[in-house]
Amino acid sequence: TRSSGSHIAVVASEKGFGRISWTMKKWIVLLGGAMFCVFFISMYMVVDQLGRLPSSHEIFKNEVTKQIKEPLDFLEKDLNKLQVDLLRSGKIIDGLQNAVDQLRFNGREPPTEKTQDLSPVRRPAVPASDMDDGCIFSGSASGKSANVKMLDMFDVMPFDNIDGGAWKQGWNVQYDDTAFDKEPLNVFVVPHSHNDPGWIKTLDQYYTQQTRHILDNVVDALAVDKKRKFIWAEMSYLSMWWKEADEKRKKLALEQLTNGQLEIVTGGWVMNDEANTHYYAMLDQMIEGHQWIEKNLGSGIKPMSGWAIDPFGHTPTMAYLLRRMGFHSMLIQRTHYQVKKHLGKEKNLEFMWRQNWDHGSSTDMFCHMMPFYSYDVPHTCGPDPKICCQFDFRRLQGGGISCPWRVPPVRIDDYNVASRAKLLLDQYKKKAQLYRSNVLFVPLGDDFRYETTFETHEQYTNYQKLMDHINSHPELKATVQFGTLSDYFNALWKTTGTEPGGQPKGFPALSGDFYTYADRDDHYWSGYYTSRPFYKNMDRALETQHRAAEIIFSVAESHARHHGSSSFAVEQLYGLLTNARRNLGVFQHHDGITGTAKDFVVVDYATRMLQSLNDMQRVIQDSAHFLLTSDKSHYRTPDKVLPPLKFGESRQAQDSMPTKEVLTLSNTPSYSSNSQVLQT
Ligand SMILES: [Zn+2]
Repeated sequence: TRSSGSHIAVVASEKGFGRISWTMKKWIVLLGGAMFCVFFISMYMVVDQLGRLPSSHEIFKNEVTKQIKEPLDFLEKDLNKLQVDLLRSGKIIDGLQNAVDQLRFNGREPPTEKTQDLSPVRRPAVPASDMDDGCIFSGSASGKSANVKMLDMFDVMPFDNIDGGAWKQGWNVQYDDTAFDKEPLNVFVVPHSHNDPGWIKTLDQYYTQQTRHILDNVVDALAVDKKRKFIWAEMSYLSMWWKEADEKRKKLALEQLTNGQLEIVTGGWVMNDEANTHYYAMLDQMIEGHQWIEKNLGSGIKPMSGWAIDPFGHTPTMAYLLRRMGFHSMLIQRTHYQVKKHLGKEKNLEFMWRQNWDHGSSTDMFCHMMPFYSYDVPHTCGPDPKICCQFDFRRLQGGGISCPWRVPPVRIDDYNVASRAKLLLDQYKKKAQLYRSNVLFVPLGDDFRYETTFETHEQYTNYQKLMDHINSHPELKATVQFGTLSDYFNALWKTTGTEPGGQPKGFPALSGDFYTYADRDDHYWSGYYTSRPFYKNMDRALETQHRAAEIIFSVAESHARHHGSSSFAVEQLYGLLTNARRNLGVFQHHDGITGTAKDFVVVDYATRMLQSLNDMQRVIQDSAHFLLTSDKSHYRTPDKVLPPLKFGESRQAQDSMPTKEVLTLSNTPSYSSNSQVLQT
């Protein structure tokens, strides 16, 4: 019987292999099967391997990449580089050509070309004496005479945002200490407190909760030691403080303003935004601030330096206005980090800011641009915020804040003063590498600082210890002192042998603006150009009404004086005008018209503007009524709004659209009396 076996074995047995044993047969069959499997797997692997080899198409493609595409890429890169270089060369040649032309045709018309020249007519250079006539510049090419042109910079400046190490947006700054042998470093540490007239609190909230204490504190701290200094920018706050401060402190403040311990910088009602603001409003808030200073502090106090550390980008219009107001210098902070780096590399962070349309230099304004990320202490003593933070003594234990870099400040004493001074001085010397002179500006402050006596005490006393140590060790090759902004600029003019406001030898002239601002990566601050458009419009409406009211009031007031009319409400209406200028001024703040304040703060700004819009209607109505009255000597100011002088537009609430007075025209008589009917 066959209990098992394959069909093959059975067939073999039948054909005469009967003598081969059954086991043997089984092994042969197994061996055969195994060999078949090995053969099959080998064949599969060979075929699979063949499939993986590059096809002829791929070989061709690789060869093309290697021999043609890569060299082409290199060529393209070279061409791009060449294009940038050509562009740059073209601009240099253009500048040279213009300079040659100016020299050749100085004061004369250029000779007429025989061949037809389709290029724009080049005007002769304008003598500096003609600068006051703005029209002369209207047809001339812009900003040619500046060494640094912002418009061109964007073609050559890389936006590579490389990690610079300790100074993230810069580079590893090095210096040669022997360079200070001949000229020791002269450092001015300038204490300041940035007080926003509205942002995450309203103007009044900030004042009552913080600013009044800051001003009290600072005045008291300055009285302790004459070497201490401080700068203040916002007249809106100073005027609020002046109204309620005790006489003793006011007297102290006046002394400090006079002896130069306390300095008013800019002196505007606010630190105005420079992008959304109309130049008229910028000017107007400056007028209000300066008039307040003159009336309350005396004509001897006159700001000479501009201070704008927080507006989100900067305009040359501000430089122009400040120059025309008689300022000799200005400071700016928030500009694109890549621009800061680019200017810093060439030591061009201090420059004469030239108007694009000005061929000469009569409107040039000396400007200092701060080099680092922020105006706080970690980003102002030098390139390393981890070190600088240790010299913000408000961050000592008990001050309520600490250093994010996790190395806290230590109180200065006799034992650590040498090492701490050395550490700080190293930062100062590194920062000095970004500027051209041996005078160094170092601000010392932040938002709403010097609020407590703890802070004022720690900040002033610890720095004084550091200063005393450095100043008594000439081998450190530096002097450090507290100063105001003008102290710094005056030292700079002195060391460079320049008239205040003049162009120090070797310092560049720069034309253009500093928009659009980015503080890091691709964080561009452009949203505020268009945010909260309703209130941006309301701002312009108030500007218009306010100016109209000023004009008609001035005419009426002069008539009142002429006619000896004492009943025209001069004082009252003038008060409304002043108040409107202040309300409009507060909105020019860099968190006002920009739209960056909290919603409830915006409502506060708008409520003020609405009040003033209505007040301006009242001024216009009263003034117009007075001017239309024939008997001005016996004029009486009406108690109520006069029906004939109704306004065409009115606003019900701070957030409601203005409604127009509708005039209905019809064929029916609009006026009738008992005796007559007017026919239309
Ligand atoms: Zn601010």
